[in-house]
Amino acid sequence: MRVVETVADFRRACGAARRPLGLVPTMGGLHAGHLALVKRSKAECATTAATIFVNPAQFGPKEDFNTYPRNLWTDLDMFESEGVDLVFTPPVEEVYPTAFDTWVNVGKVSSRLEGEARPGHFRGVATVVTKLLAIARPDRAYFGQKDAQQCLVIKQLNDDLALGAVVVIVPTVREPDGLALSSRNVNLRPDERRAAPVLYRALCLAQKMQREGTNDAEAICRAMREEVGKERLAQVDYVSISDAATLEDLERVDRPALALLAVRIGKTRLIDNIAL
Ligand code: AMP
Repeated sequence: MRVVETVADFRRACGAARRPLGLVPTMGGLHAGHLALVKRSKAECATTAATIFVNPAQFGPKEDFNTYPRNLWTDLDMFESEGVDLVFTPPVEEVYPTAFDTWVNVGKVSSRLEGEARPGHFRGVATVVTKLLAIARPDRAYFGQKDAQQCLVIKQLNDDLALGAVVVIVPTVREPDGLALSSRNVNLRPDERRAAPVLYRALCLAQKMQREGTNDAEAICRAMREEVGKERLAQVDYVSISDAATLEDLERVDRPALALLAVRIGKTRLIDNIAL
């Protein structure tokens, strides 16, 4: 496994790679969810490149950029064991040199939900992913369904800016109790960790109601809020039933939809979603 730290070296190594080339962007703090993206890339591509970069531009001023889990050596060991060929671990100045002054703003699909709760978040995500796709020029790029809105933002910029990658969405990997794997789960205290599966319980309830014939999105959202409310340590940030393709708010579940939610457990903010 080769590890490079400069844009020039990463571009050169990707240019010389056997095709198809798969790209797996991450912020590190690796877990089995990230490795599922790697496994999928390994199954579909001759070369798999991954990136580890905690992107300051996607964190708000009051968010957890400084305390975000960073374990570079463990992460590199995990990527190496999975058979990753190339890893890009740039310092911040390599991605955002002093003169950096171009930002990618994706429109409608980034406006609601996480976009509303975290102003500037998707501008940071879109800018860094555009830059990574422009440097690596992968044939395929792998993202997790856990971050459903992020997937739609990336599909939109990849299409609009003609970056030419096939964007592959990999299903959410969960703990046995349903909690979606997330780098931030390590921040949960034991009692908070016990409370955290409430997100998945609320999503399963939404799916059950819809399967049993409830199409009223408001009624489903109310039931999800009530379910989360049963957990003393959990506080709803938002709950939504949205069109699966556009993320527009739905009144009735009359087309492919997602139930999405963001919940605070103590100081940790978790998101998750399920298809309806
Ligand atoms: P992050 O390091 O949190 O930026 O995540 C890097 C990539 O891994 C993103 O495409 C995430 O959507 C994906 N990912 C994170 N958690 C999971 C999970 N539990 N299952 C599947 N993919 C995930």
